[in-house]
Amino acid sequence: MLITDAKLVTWGAPNHILENHALYIEGERIADLGSSSELQRKYPQADVLDARGQYVMPGNICAHTHFYGAFARGMAIPGESPKDFPEILERLWWKLDKSLSFDDVHYSALVCLIDAIKHGTTTLIDHHSSPNAIDGSLDVIADAVRKAGLRACLCYEVTDRDGPEKARAGIAENLRFLKSVNGDPQSAISATFGLHASLTLSEATLEMCRAAHDGGFHIHAAEHEADQHDSLRKSGIRVIDRLHKINILSPRSIVAHCVHIDQKEKDLLRETGTWVTHQPRSNMNNAVGTADVEEMLRLGIKVGLGNDGFSNAMWDEWRAAYLSHKSAYRDPRRMGGSTVAEMAVKNNSALANQFFSQAPLGVLSPGAFADLIFVDYHPITPLTIDNLPWHILFGFENSMVTTTICAGRVLMKDRQLLFLDEAEIAARSRELAKKMWARVNEG
Ligand SMILES: [Zn+2]
Repeated sequence: MLITDAKLVTWGAPNHILENHALYIEGERIADLGSSSELQRKYPQADVLDARGQYVMPGNICAHTHFYGAFARGMAIPGESPKDFPEILERLWWKLDKSLSFDDVHYSALVCLIDAIKHGTTTLIDHHSSPNAIDGSLDVIADAVRKAGLRACLCYEVTDRDGPEKARAGIAENLRFLKSVNGDPQSAISATFGLHASLTLSEATLEMCRAAHDGGFHIHAAEHEADQHDSLRKSGIRVIDRLHKINILSPRSIVAHCVHIDQKEKDLLRETGTWVTHQPRSNMNNAVGTADVEEMLRLGIKVGLGNDGFSNAMWDEWRAAYLSHKSAYRDPRRMGGSTVAEMAVKNNSALANQFFSQAPLGVLSPGAFADLIFVDYHPITPLTIDNLPWHILFGFENSMVTTTICAGRVLMKDRQLLFLDEAEIAARSRELAKKMWARVNEG
């Protein structure tokens, strides 16, 4: 397939914006890049996809999400509004995840994946929980990911909050899925080992997970002060120290949030090369505070951008990051556009590449995965490499994504989904969510 008449944003190092360019796609990769006229001469037999002057750039990457969160949309929490994050966990999320059936797991993933295709997100790192539908739940999600044609790294969150049997089942599900993925390497589905958060994990369970798995982990940490209070009470040390002591931190591990960590904990994250993800919409919604992302980046900690189950429109997360830090610190110099791009593009690509290492991700270059989006954006002011992040922040709308391609396969063309019936999936999802809400209210 030959994509012609594109304004390519390569997001390479250095980044380039190349007008009237073309990409030749072979299989799941970009095989060639050059001017439209040159590649048309070179590949006269190729099927042509005319970008009609749109911006063509790598698909967005989400570093931390929860597909099952989709079924919380519009759901009321009975009684008074939760007053803080621990109450939100107990009264919303831990009731919701217990009420999920395998069908709910499948359809909540599908609706998120459709949202991702429509809004130009092609790689997602998910963190799953369904305590009454554990065994095989990651296969059910992987099935949805395959149907959607996107790329995802999956894990099951191990926790002690539902008793030792379910904690063991969570461990087994991670190990089973890791083994199945490693035994049958695929470029679009990957796996890591999920842990909920320090505050719902005993020493014994963490040790058990570490003993069972010597790769990386994906865990929430210090999202709220409660995680620190719990860790100090349980172990006498702070959350990141505790994870370090059990050997959870490493360049293959992801620690989501890190809103309430001290300098020593930041040093540990840097020394161990652990990934941190920032989810500003979720942090604002849960009123947990603002992570000191700029300091973490300055220290050399690798921070990526996730959405924590919010919409898969990653440019909304860009905007939340850009605005929330300015507001929190009452300083318009905080969190410049290039810092947001560093997290969302450079760091997210490097993180995703750890899970999908067969070819470069998040960059347009020969040999890289052909994960691309077309953006129908017509700047009203000069657009350059230097001010591109600010055009994305102030000009790009998620609805401007007209075509989404993942692994060389066109999933959406001119805003039409080619493989999924959105109306049918939404209808089935509404039926399932209604039943699930009834179970939440009974529970
Ligand atoms: Zn999360």
